[in-house]
Amino acid sequence: MSYDPNNIFAKILRGDLPCTKVFEDDHTLAFMDIMPQAKGHVLVLPKLASQSLLDAEPAMFSALFATVQKLARAVKTGMEADGIVVTQFNGAAAGQTVFHLHVHIIPRWDGVALRRHSGTMEDADVLKAHAAKIVAAL
Ligand code: 5GP
Repeated sequence: MSYDPNNIFAKILRGDLPCTKVFEDDHTLAFMDIMPQAKGHVLVLPKLASQSLLDAEPAMFSALFATVQKLARAVKTGMEADGIVVTQFNGAAAGQTVFHLHVHIIPRWDGVALRRHSGTMEDADVLKAHAAKIVAAL
């Protein structure tokens, strides 16, 4: 299977579909996950096309993980989280549902369970409110 230029995240990167953006630079884009596993769940994408980590161009990893670190810090501060989980799935069997490489940043609080992966769609206003807290902490 080759990279599908019409996958949902490719469309978001082109501006063909909307997202609740929290950060963008020359190489990366970060926005709120539409079905968050926790309040403040953010996705970080490289702009360079690849399906997953396995076919990605390593030259962009420093830019990608600089943004992952920046957002992990902002999510922790902005959402007042106790900890941050960073995950990344490769292949449908591993849980990947959108085939443009992306990294999940998921805040955790002591005693609060994670919601199901790709579970329930969040209200747009709630996503905007969480995004505002994260942006304020950047
Ligand atoms: P994966 O399972 O591929 O690692 O994660 C895909 C993630 O993208 C899921 O957590 C899912 O909730 C999220 N997602 C799916 N479609 C959209 C969308 O159209 N917009 C946004 N912002 N997130 C999406």
